[in-house]
Amino acid sequence: MLSTRVKLTVAFVAGLVAVTITLFLAVLAARNNAVYHDIALYAAAQGDLAARIITDAAQSKEKVFTTSDTALIAALSPKVVDRLQSVPGYIVVVDTAGRAVYRSSDVMRLQGVDMATLQTQLADLPKSGEALIFSLDSQEKLLFVSHSLAGTPGGLSRIASGAVATRASTIPREYMLDALVIVPLIIGAAGVGAFLFLGRTQRQLTEITTEVAAITDGRSLHRRLALSEETTDFADLMMTLNAMISRLETSFAGLRRFTADASHELKTPLAVLRADVERAMADTSSQTERMVALEEALQEVRRMTDLVESLLTLARADEGRFDLHREPVELLPLVQEVYETALILGEAQGVTVNLPFTADVTVMADRTRLRQLFLNLVTNAIKYTPAGGKVELGLGRHPDNVTFAVRDTGIGISAADFPHIFERFWRADRVRSRMSERGGFGLGLAISQWIAQAHGGTLTASSRLGRGSLFTVTLPLGGDGQRT
Ligand code: ADP
Repeated sequence: MLSTRVKLTVAFVAGLVAVTITLFLAVLAARNNAVYHDIALYAAAQGDLAARIITDAAQSKEKVFTTSDTALIAALSPKVVDRLQSVPGYIVVVDTAGRAVYRSSDVMRLQGVDMATLQTQLADLPKSGEALIFSLDSQEKLLFVSHSLAGTPGGLSRIASGAVATRASTIPREYMLDALVIVPLIIGAAGVGAFLFLGRTQRQLTEITTEVAAITDGRSLHRRLALSEETTDFADLMMTLNAMISRLETSFAGLRRFTADASHELKTPLAVLRADVERAMADTSSQTERMVALEEALQEVRRMTDLVESLLTLARADEGRFDLHREPVELLPLVQEVYETALILGEAQGVTVNLPFTADVTVMADRTRLRQLFLNLVTNAIKYTPAGGKVELGLGRHPDNVTFAVRDTGIGISAADFPHIFERFWRADRVRSRMSERGGFGLGLAISQWIAQAHGGTLTASSRLGRGSLFTVTLPLGGDGQRT
């Protein structure tokens, strides 16, 4: 297998050769055209000269023809012939019957087949202007131009004047030198240059690849590719790779934290469960003690079930493998149901719950998920509001969306904690939170946010430490099959 470096070099050299050949042929064609043009001009000048000799003779009432009784063809008078012989080159004077009445000495020197063919071809030569290229047996080429003699007495038709044009169709020596020596040398040098340059590029790429492999082996994700003078050509690539490594680092850290948190959360209820079961099995325990221990064990099992269910929900959401059973959901009865639950929870905790405003709205949504979302927010509000506080729910309808808001006068969230509230397993006060009866897992808001987003909506929050919090769910109306 050829390396990419060799393949690229070969492609580069092949491209250069193709371009050079095309250029060479174009230059040669232009040069040959110019040479033909010069030769044609020269031949035409000779033709003009010969034509002037004949017309001058005719105008000065001189005898242009000698006619003898025996001659079948009218011949030019010796005086005119004499003068014509002073014109150099290939001159043929043709009469109206297509016969050559004069041939210059150069034409006379043409032999055999050449002569006969030339004669026929000259007879077909158009009357004026156009040229004929005639190839001789000796590989030489002649270029003839025709010049009309119309108007001259005695049935003369035209003069064909020619010149040797061989040099117009051959490649000149200096061109050959360029084509065979200089150009191949330049292309060879360019090829070597390209090969060396590609080698450097390939080395840089190999360096980058090795470095990326070393970084992404799992333990060095904190490292980044270092931009240097050497690798400036790949600055964009390296920056993109660095950004990708940063994202990988964040995801890996998140994954590690998630696994650690999940196992930690399961460890505590498992330990309690074990202690409860041991207590229930102890020989010394009374029947009542056993029942209390088993009751506690059951509670821990419920707690673990809740945790596992939440984890499963988030795992499915991450994979995009969740089934939302959308149906028209009337929000007013749903919010009222949530409100009634909130009243009971609030009463137990000495928190006043109100529902000051509602709206009659129907949206296309998953009723169970929506209830879960609203209840999460309401239970949080009650959970984090001390006795004597207030929780207010509200359902509002706007032109494009509908909002469900939960405001509390509870403990609030500090500015430092606020950015983390939607993170998984995050709790403002972990130790107290687990130990006290509030004891959530820190997954509720992450799930709530996912539910809102899965419905094309948002979950936003604002809070002040010691003053209370406001959580708002916004669901779109209209498009996506939703209606009011
Ligand atoms: P948890 O099950 O711990 O309540 P959530 O994901 O629902 O988990 O909430 C994450 C954290 O956000 C809570 O532990 C709490 O610190 C904070 N939080 C949520 N809602 C409120 C609220 N209404 N008032 C104050 N803090 C809140």
